[in-house]
Amino acid sequence: MKTLATFNGQIQPLEHLKISANDRAFYFADAVYEVVRIYSGKLFLFAEHLSRLGRSLASLGIKCDLSLVEKDIMENVNANKIFDGYVYVQVSRGEAPRAHQIPKNLKPNVTIYSVEFVSDPFAPFRASGIKASLHPDWRWKRRDIKSTNLLANCIARDRAESENCQEAILYEEDDFAITECSSNNVFIVSSNTLRTPPVSNRILNGITRQCVLAIAKSLNIEAVEENFTVSELKFADEVLITGSFAEVLGVVSVAGCTIGDGSVGPVTRMISESFQDLKKASH
Ligand code: PLP
Repeated sequence: MKTLATFNGQIQPLEHLKISANDRAFYFADAVYEVVRIYSGKLFLFAEHLSRLGRSLASLGIKCDLSLVEKDIMENVNANKIFDGYVYVQVSRGEAPRAHQIPKNLKPNVTIYSVEFVSDPFAPFRASGIKASLHPDWRWKRRDIKSTNLLANCIARDRAESENCQEAILYEEDDFAITECSSNNVFIVSSNTLRTPPVSNRILNGITRQCVLAIAKSLNIEAVEENFTVSELKFADEVLITGSFAEVLGVVSVAGCTIGDGSVGPVTRMISESFQDLKKASH
C-alpha cells in the first residue's frame, strides 16, 4: 500500500504531494516537527509529543490549531493502517515570497504521514550496544525547539557513520560539555548515579529522556540533571542514549574508547527492561 500523506487536512499519496517552493520551510527551515512512535496501533506518549509541538510552535510564533493537528494525525495513522511504526508531522510557518522578515499571520502548512516499521534499524545493537563518535556541536543556540534545521545534525551523523559508528555524541567546543546526540539524548552512569545534561536551550528535551528520568525514579536509581564533559563521558561506567527510535540503547565505545567492560551495563539494562514494560502497558 502506498503511504498516504495528510496536507492541511487533505489525504493523498505521499509521492504525489507537492508543496510550494515559497513554503518558508524550503528557504529557511522555518518549521517544526515531531515524530511519534506507534506500538500495536497506539500512539506512544502522544500527549507529551503534542505538548512539545505546541511549545516549539509558540517559541517561533507560528499559530496553528493543535486540536486539528491531533485529529489529522489520528486519521492519517488509521488511513495508513499502522500497527508498529511512526508518524511524522511537520508544521511550517506557511508560504510567502522569499524574504528574511518574518511575515505575520501566515496560514501554516501541516504535513503528516505515517509509516509501518519494516525492521528496527537498531535491532543488531539492542543486546550488544552501539559505538558512538564525538563531534563538535555546530548547531544553533535554540536546540530546545524541534526545528527542521537539522543540517549540523546530519553532518555529525554522516561523520559517525564514516567512522563505523551508529551515532554521534555532540560537545560544546568552548568548554567540552556534552550536549546530546545527532538525534538522541545522552546519559552516563558513574558511581551508580545516572546523569544527563539539564533542560536548557542547549538540548532538545526528549520525550524518551523524560520517560527514562521517571523510570530511574521508580527504580530508586539516583538520577541528576547535570552537565558532564567529554572526559567524564569517556571514563563513565556506562553510557546510554535515548530517543523515540533508539528507545534505550547502551553505548559500548566512544571515539574508540571502550566504556566500562565493553558490554551494555546493568543500569542501562534495568532501565531498558522497564521501558519495554512501559511500552507493553501502553497497548
Ligand atoms: N535530541 C535530538 C537532537 C533529537 O532530534 C531527538 C529526536 O528526534 C531527541 C533528542 C530524542 O527525542 P525523543 O525522545 O523525543 O524522540
